[in-house]
Amino acid sequence: LPVVAVVGRPNVGKSTLVNRLAGTFRAGAIVDNVVGITRDRTYRSAEWSGVHYQLVDTGGLVFDDSEGLIFLPEIRAQARVALGEAAAVVVVVDGMAGWNPLDADIVRFLRAEFPLLPITLAVNKCESEKASASQAAEFWSLGVGEPWPVSGIHGSGTGDLLDSLVEGLPRVPPEDVGNDGTINVAIVGRPNVGKSTLLNVLTNSDRAIVSDVPGTTRDAIDETITVGEQKYKLIDTAGIRRKTAVAYGTEFFMINRAFRAIRRADCVLLVVDVDEGATDQDRKIAERILDEGKACVILANKWDLVGEKDNRSYKEAVLLTREKLAVIPWAQVELVSALERQRTKLVTSLVDAAVEQHRRRVSTATLNEVLREAVEWHRPPSNKQARQGRLYYCTQVSVQPPTVAVFVNDPRLFSDNYRRYMESTFRKALGFEGSPLRLLWRGKA
Ligand code: GDP
Repeated sequence: LPVVAVVGRPNVGKSTLVNRLAGTFRAGAIVDNVVGITRDRTYRSAEWSGVHYQLVDTGGLVFDDSEGLIFLPEIRAQARVALGEAAAVVVVVDGMAGWNPLDADIVRFLRAEFPLLPITLAVNKCESEKASASQAAEFWSLGVGEPWPVSGIHGSGTGDLLDSLVEGLPRVPPEDVGNDGTINVAIVGRPNVGKSTLLNVLTNSDRAIVSDVPGTTRDAIDETITVGEQKYKLIDTAGIRRKTAVAYGTEFFMINRAFRAIRRADCVLLVVDVDEGATDQDRKIAERILDEGKACVILANKWDLVGEKDNRSYKEAVLLTREKLAVIPWAQVELVSALERQRTKLVTSLVDAAVEQHRRRVSTATLNEVLREAVEWHRPPSNKQARQGRLYYCTQVSVQPPTVAVFVNDPRLFSDNYRRYMESTFRKALGFEGSPLRLLWRGKA
């Protein structure tokens, strides 16, 4: 993982900020004001917007030995080691104390010894929003770009700082972090829509379906298939292969089991019966997929049963399915026949495409371009007190599913209608087919 070194002169609140950035901040964490206390390099893994990296605190970096601190030479050596392996550096300065010649020394040192290292400037101790802009502004003179006002204690401003920081970091794709890139797939749908048949096609097996006694649905069995280089884990296939022969409670079991599988999945294959048409139960499952923020592909199965098959009936079938499952209008609908293996070869590539969108990241610049244009077309209405909703900017805060924070003056000024408009504009401009897209409306508090 890329290493981010954090440097700054003593007492600028570096440790507090590091804890905050690493997400480990809590009252009582060891943060001491004693100069030079952070003697050892401590590495902490952190993640922002899906970018994984390691934070290393370097201890107080001081080049003016007149301060007479005994740890200093040691700390300096530590810092050199940390900087030597770093992909980026955060220079922390003290916004409350203001500009300090030692800060300039640190920047000069970095420029001289690590000329290629990108620098992000954090102006710490900017607790009050009003003061922070002016506090930060005087650090433009350090010549390392935008000073980001933050508060290690309160956490304010760290989002912007991190956005700017991770922009320059090499991306380690999430699949390389902690697992081998297997895509977890749940096959869900009402009884008899063809899940087992599809499972048999996908696994290339033809296992007899075990007619099961009620109550043995607890164990979940996952089966893994490999297509090309890609592995897919089919979740809780036991729940699909075994059919509970109970006359009552079937829906309850089905829904429960499906919901659990959805939770574990990256991508959900929602199987519906195209001959019967999608039902209310199918819609319930779709709602759950949306709530859980999962990628989804809708397979309208038993297409072989549809009598008239031409371009028009194809489109109609897709439209009808979409209409019923309008809660997830972004999911691709494919007409298949599990029994006759029509278009079933497409299934894994449809999953790939949805998963790719689910993990997609869009630059802050692009997002704000879309936001600006959307606002120009359709300004936010003002409420009864004639307060005008204002949109400042937006940024993608996470993936799986893609989530965009929209910063506004006051979220209450934005109606559901306006939010829907904004969401659909983002969709039109950016796609994200197959994946939910979340907008978080945040006040600039
Ligand atoms: P599950 O309950 O969702 O697992 O559904 P099954 O896979 O057991 O299928 C229920 C019934 O529908 C079986 O009789 C299957 O043979 C039949 N079936 C499954 N897929 C298709 C299909 O694509 N076309 C047709 N005509 N029948 C299918």
